[in-house]
Amino acid sequence: MAIDFTFSQEVEDARQMMRQFLHETVKPAFAGLRANKDATREDWSQLVKSLRGKARDAGFWLPHMPQDVGGMGLGVTALAAVSAEAAKVPMGPYIINAQAPDEGNMHTLYHFATDYQREHFLKPLLEGTARSCFSMTEPEVAGSDPTLIQTTAVEDGDDWVINGHKWFTSGAQGADFAIVIAKTDPDADIPQARNSAFIVPTNSPGFEIVRDVETMGGRHNHPEVRYNGVRVPKTHLLGERGGGHKLGQVRLGPARLAHCMRWIGQIEMALEMLIERAQNRFSHGSYLSEKQSIQWMMSDSAMELYAAKLMVLHAAYKIENKMEFKQEVSMAKHHVANTLWRVVDRAMQVHGALGYSTDTPLAGMMQQARWARLADGADEVHQMRIAELLMRAYNEDGSIGQAVGGLPL
Ligand SMILES: Cc1cc2nc3c(=O)[nH]c(=O)nc-3n(C[C@H](O)[C@H](O)[C@H](O)COP(=O)(O)OP(=O)(O)OC[C@H]3O[C@@H](n4cnc5c(N)ncnc54)[C@H](O)[C@@H]3O)c2cc1C
Repeated sequence: MAIDFTFSQEVEDARQMMRQFLHETVKPAFAGLRANKDATREDWSQLVKSLRGKARDAGFWLPHMPQDVGGMGLGVTALAAVSAEAAKVPMGPYIINAQAPDEGNMHTLYHFATDYQREHFLKPLLEGTARSCFSMTEPEVAGSDPTLIQTTAVEDGDDWVINGHKWFTSGAQGADFAIVIAKTDPDADIPQARNSAFIVPTNSPGFEIVRDVETMGGRHNHPEVRYNGVRVPKTHLLGERGGGHKLGQVRLGPARLAHCMRWIGQIEMALEMLIERAQNRFSHGSYLSEKQSIQWMMSDSAMELYAAKLMVLHAAYKIENKMEFKQEVSMAKHHVANTLWRVVDRAMQVHGALGYSTDTPLAGMMQQARWARLADGADEVHQMRIAELLMRAYNEDGSIGQAVGGLPL
């Protein structure tokens, strides 16, 4: 049996070079500007623009996309390695044009867009000249159950007319277009065939950003949006009519894994910070790192991180090899999100008051870690799906084997 956990030299080189670029070019550039108290918004925007240009020139651009559209053409497993590196540097994913939600939207458009849609909407995203958002969740109904979506799209002549209310449409401010999920076929036999996806330019009359919803982390561009009779031509239907659910599933599998990949980078960073602090903080006669209770935090974190890496690599392997991946992605998403939460919490504990302050990145990381457990499938919803597949495998195959990774063990 062939089990090989090494990447090809080409991928390993790409990862090392990306790491070097992010740590030696991006990180110091940000630190330099942060130290300049007079730096303006314009200075920041110029810096980001210039770093993105450098990344593109160096070939660190669109790691998640195939080469035929200018991407790095990495397989999903190699992408795991590269994304984890990018997440260790603030704005790393944005610099290499692989940030959510554009990243998931690029995937979606790549798979479902017509030639017209590719030219007008995918191309500018690939070039980094446009931004986008994904508009599915609604305040009035449980986002965990998209069959409840109330936003409607109704045919009128050559147009679709969209009415509805969304929130947490991340990145909507400054986005050029939204991919909107709306109900088109309320009477379809199966609830999953009732919704469709539309590309809605944000300058369409009736597209209204009500407010940027303030979160525990402040305002991070997660707006509440109203669609007040927004008209889009029929050419803006993305994928097939009634295919909104399918499109969401295709989008969410790899997009969830992409989050996991970035979270692994964050977990690693938090654990390294924990170790560094523990080895340098002296209390009650010894360094924190010499105390067993702190060593347990380190070892628990290491074991959870190791399991997280294996789960992500295996789920990525399954996607790459066109195998069924739903169960593995659900398990990875749940495990990695919870590992992120626990490891950041432990690192914060070991840092004491410093950890609670905003002098280290830990406070910000904890805010991100909290939403990881409820967005893109809440913990309990993944657990429900995992259990369903587990029972189905047991009842149909007489064995749970296929529902726990289908591994030869
Ligand atoms: C930072 C952030 C960014 C986001 N970005 C986007 C975005 O770009 N676009 C977008 O459309 N949405 C986005 N969302 C919304 C996100 O996808 C939803 O929050 C998520 O789908 C859950 O929906 P909800 O918030 O309505 O919670 P609900 O569906 O109301 O669920 C609340 C809780 O109920 C429990 N629950 C729900 N169903 C079950 C069940 N079957 N069994 C047991 N317990 C259950 C879970 O504990 C869950 O956390 C974002 C959210 C956050 C926090």
